[in-house]
Amino acid sequence: MQQARDILRNFFGYEHFRGLQQEVVEHVAGGGDALVLMPTGSGKSLCYQIPALMRPGTAVVISPLIALMQDQVEALTQAGIRAAYLNSSQSHEIQNHIETELEQGCIDLLYVAPERFKTERFLSRLDRIQIALFAIDEAHCVSQWGHDFRTDYLLLSRIRQRYPKAPRIALTATADIRTRQEIIERLSLEQARTFSTSLDRPNLHYAISPKKDPKKQLLSFLRHAHRGGSGIIYCLSRRKVESTAQWLSQQGFRAIPYHAGLEAEVRNQHQRRFLSEDGMIIVATVAFGMGINKPNVRFVVHFDLPRSLEAYYQETGRAGRDGLPAKVLLLFGLQDILGLSQQIQDSELDPERKRIERDRLETMIGLCETSRCRREVLLGHFGETSKAACGNCDNCLTPPAQWDATEPARMALSCAHRTGERYGAQYLIEVLTGKVSPRIRDLGHDQISTFGIGKAFDVPTWQSIFRQLVTLGFLSPEPERGGALRLQERCRPLLRGETPLKLRKDRGSLPQSIHQTHGRSRDDNRLFEDLRILRRTLAQEQGVPPYLIFQDTILEDIARLRPQTLEALQTIQGIGEKKLERYGKAFLAIVLRQAGTSIAAYSSATK
Ligand code: ADP
Ligand code: ZN
Repeated sequence: MQQARDILRNFFGYEHFRGLQQEVVEHVAGGGDALVLMPTGSGKSLCYQIPALMRPGTAVVISPLIALMQDQVEALTQAGIRAAYLNSSQSHEIQNHIETELEQGCIDLLYVAPERFKTERFLSRLDRIQIALFAIDEAHCVSQWGHDFRTDYLLLSRIRQRYPKAPRIALTATADIRTRQEIIERLSLEQARTFSTSLDRPNLHYAISPKKDPKKQLLSFLRHAHRGGSGIIYCLSRRKVESTAQWLSQQGFRAIPYHAGLEAEVRNQHQRRFLSEDGMIIVATVAFGMGINKPNVRFVVHFDLPRSLEAYYQETGRAGRDGLPAKVLLLFGLQDILGLSQQIQDSELDPERKRIERDRLETMIGLCETSRCRREVLLGHFGETSKAACGNCDNCLTPPAQWDATEPARMALSCAHRTGERYGAQYLIEVLTGKVSPRIRDLGHDQISTFGIGKAFDVPTWQSIFRQLVTLGFLSPEPERGGALRLQERCRPLLRGETPLKLRKDRGSLPQSIHQTHGRSRDDNRLFEDLRILRRTLAQEQGVPPYLIFQDTILEDIARLRPQTLEALQTIQGIGEKKLERYGKAFLAIVLRQAGTSIAAYSSATK
């Protein structure tokens, strides 16, 4: 295993394997098949990259997206490893050139898209070379049950038949039991050893808050979470993406939109900017994100309710891949809930599938309204039981208050009843608060007993009450009738005064916990910024994203530890030999400059 350790240290600059990495590496390097289920940011790539370098021949890596391949190949090249990719975006000359290199044995890792396996030409090339292993990244794309199904992934079943001797390793961060089973069947991985770790992402801080002047909430969040870092803001519709991006720009943020309605050229450009510039905010629909390898996404905001916990977990999972603290915030309101229910109702899905989608939405709402630890609920959904409350979510850090809402809840229910269960929350709130409008007068609702009985509570409080009456199942919106709220069986004891009702008190502002920042001292911060400027310059010179030069974790460590020599610099995790040689001196110079030592003095001292 010494060889694996040497590769880990010399090429990747890490002293120790993490989690199950070593076991996977040993198993695959020894020729075994593997199925690897580990969360985003846990270091899956090394699980196949190191065996690829240990075994003779070329490793073939199948990856679903061009952007993902380019990123990985650039990262490997930076580390001094011979890697290349083949895809349809390249000219024929370049493809021929790479194929020639491949046959000469000059490539250790070759990244390809799954559709390559369609062509006999490509397969016959592979027949002529020695294959170290096959790695199938984002393996859940082979599952029709999953959310990212790709037809071309089905072609990968050919690998087993045609190259029975080469070990295969399939990797994914998202696989419930059913998806996992499908991966095994479709890729014939029955003999493979499964390596799985907890899906938990301990460095993510989860916060969920009801919408109350959402723009103000977003601004307040950005003021604390942004701080020059990059982030993603998800919105449900293209229109909202556009307007939010525009509004944020007016507020002085560097924000750009991304959705499937933009021209491909614009979309690519925005994606590139997000990857390569520091401190960009991308406002996007869920069309954005798959294959985004950017390690230093510092926050993810859901400005609208996601449809399912699976989607939520995957989207929030894009934050903090580098393991540094990152924040994820979700804002939701009754309108979101009604809108999504309506969409499911109006969709073309068959009744069974609609039922599944409604269940998924309900589970999602359950997470929003819970007073329990968010992480406990999330992991519980994926079949993991956690040991204790996490201490890194809003509910753990600032437990929600409850209040006795028996009286107003009864008012709300009887108002819905008195008006014939024909109206939505907004109208009912107008009646309860005694608003005099022509519509109310025309319908005669200013004459009923519930008109104006709720004046003691303001509109946001009523919205909170109605939302919770819906999510708790006292009222049910009928999508066929424009979201009219109907009383459910559960209301009876409450209306009869037999049971009290406690509701969650919506916070006036975002939970305190979201505003806590992890501290860098002011001096460290200044150094960090200087290092960041150098990194940006180097990245621009080469036309690569800054994180491929050095990740934020490395800059953080340099700023904190202030190495004074190249040897000291090399002890920082993530700086391999090649990178030390290429960038070490330049970064060291920045540290010494701030310490008042000039690099000239340093050079003469070390001669
Ligand atoms: P995944 O593919 O599982 O999302 P990556 O392979 O992109 O994760 O790795 C996530 C981060 O962890 C990267 O920044 C990588 O450099 C870092 N990393 C991987 N292995 C180690 C290790 N053994 N020690 C320290 N950092 C590591
Ligand atoms: Zn918690």
